[in-house]
Amino acid sequence: MSKKIADLLFPNIDKTPDYYEKMYPERNLDDNAMVTRYGPSPTGSVHLGNLFSAFCDMVYARQSKGVFFLRIEDTDQKRAVEGGIDNITSILKSFAINPTEGYGIGGDYGPYIQSKRTEIYQTYVKDLIRRGLAYPCFMSEEEQQEIKEEQEVMKQKIGIYGHYATDRDLTYEEVKENLESGKDYVIRLKSPGNAEHQIEIKDAIKGKLKFPEHDIDTILLKKDGTPTYHLAHAIDDHLMHTTHVIRGDEWVSSIPLHVQLFEVLGFERPEYAHIAPITIKDSETGTIRKLSKRKDLWAGAKYYEESGIPIDALHLYLSTIANTNFEEWYLKNQDKNIEDFIFDFSKQGIGGTSFDSSKLENICKTYFSRKNGKEVFEETLSYAEKFDKNYADFLKDNKDLMIAFLNIEKDGPRPRKDIAKYSDVKEEFSYAIDSMFEKENYSKLNSSKDYDIDMIKRYIDIYNINDSKDEWFNRIKEFSINEGYSPNVKEYKKDPSKYKGHVGDVCEAIRVMVTGRDKSPDLYEILKILGKDKLNNRLELFKKYLNK
Ligand code: GLU
Repeated sequence: MSKKIADLLFPNIDKTPDYYEKMYPERNLDDNAMVTRYGPSPTGSVHLGNLFSAFCDMVYARQSKGVFFLRIEDTDQKRAVEGGIDNITSILKSFAINPTEGYGIGGDYGPYIQSKRTEIYQTYVKDLIRRGLAYPCFMSEEEQQEIKEEQEVMKQKIGIYGHYATDRDLTYEEVKENLESGKDYVIRLKSPGNAEHQIEIKDAIKGKLKFPEHDIDTILLKKDGTPTYHLAHAIDDHLMHTTHVIRGDEWVSSIPLHVQLFEVLGFERPEYAHIAPITIKDSETGTIRKLSKRKDLWAGAKYYEESGIPIDALHLYLSTIANTNFEEWYLKNQDKNIEDFIFDFSKQGIGGTSFDSSKLENICKTYFSRKNGKEVFEETLSYAEKFDKNYADFLKDNKDLMIAFLNIEKDGPRPRKDIAKYSDVKEEFSYAIDSMFEKENYSKLNSSKDYDIDMIKRYIDIYNINDSKDEWFNRIKEFSINEGYSPNVKEYKKDPSKYKGHVGDVCEAIRVMVTGRDKSPDLYEILKILGKDKLNNRLELFKKYLNK
């Protein structure tokens, strides 16, 4: 009889699960190779937490020479937003999270978008109905609402199960009659579970987990014939031969249902690895909460790209969240890459990991400090091409000058750590841009100090671009003496009344005139890169600023 019901409900489904089992055979991979997948729903913006789970998918598959595929999970069309899919693929691309197979890439296990797999889901569901493991449920919304209210009052578990599951055993005639009268229906799992029994599963990250068996007749196909997430997850991960389901731990409570679905469908179950959320200490309440796209700037994936955080640095940061021993390893193996580290689920934190913006900033600064001027230049240029066209034009017109600036204090054991993101370059090296001095650079000086313009002018006259660093410093000391300044601080401190100031004050006046600030990288290098003509130009601008 159930076979007759199945045929009645799905007259157009003429295949059996066997057809798909043959169509998607085992993958030809090494025994330990992991097959992971990222299954985003196209619901709008991408969250750092989503990126983190995709990152984990990528590293585990990569290190085991496995497969990491992208599957678009658009079963909930109500939540889908226009452009959502393109947004996902472009964000993955800009974050260098590169699936090796899947949506937009191709592969032998597609289609990789759930809305194109309806026939597959219905084939398996038809088979479940035929085998008496699923059934059509014609209950109206109102009836279900009434049941829910009753269950709430009685403090019972919410859902359709036990005596609430009134459509479990409808006869063929009853089903036919309901169909003929045009009633809507869903297909429910005829849950074989008993909540008195316990199941135990081993999560790759969380370890042993125990749950009561699932005993609710969960919906498998919705009124429009499309699947619920649960059914699609079981069928897709089976047919696509996923070995490890890495996903956010908001799915932990669905484990009993998923385990049961794999059982009734006769599938071998993949391993689950539920990752803890990225948390943050709320600045207002002081409590630990999940990262929120609404409240936290860093939560939205776009932030990283737009503000110019280098992707490699972000990967390093995500690695420190992924495995607790990564940071120590990286400090000891600074010449190595993330690819050389072996990620291990057992080293993955169980509780939420707190987002640490200062750690991220530090990682970024170290990243920049290890790049030479040319590399920083090229990367900054490609960032600016996308987000700051005017600056990109400036960079292209001043390539050698900028590379020279970016190379200041790069050699040696402690290279400069002044840049944390591409957008910092414009700000940090603003003294490279003449027009910045007309607009804003001097106006950032908050000192009301009076600088001796004539002295600076005399300095420019004696400045010799060919001086070595020692010669340059000796010359400036000599100049200081001639101008009535002490050549060193010690002398000056002995009797300040004897001097106008000391050599440091002379340097400060020159530095402020040149850079618009009282701290900068090595002044000798800056002057040498700019050259005498530019120094004279800048002095004119400085005069204007000081109204002299
Ligand atoms: N589509 C699900 C989500 O966006 C994916 C969950 C999973 O990875 O299984 O949350």
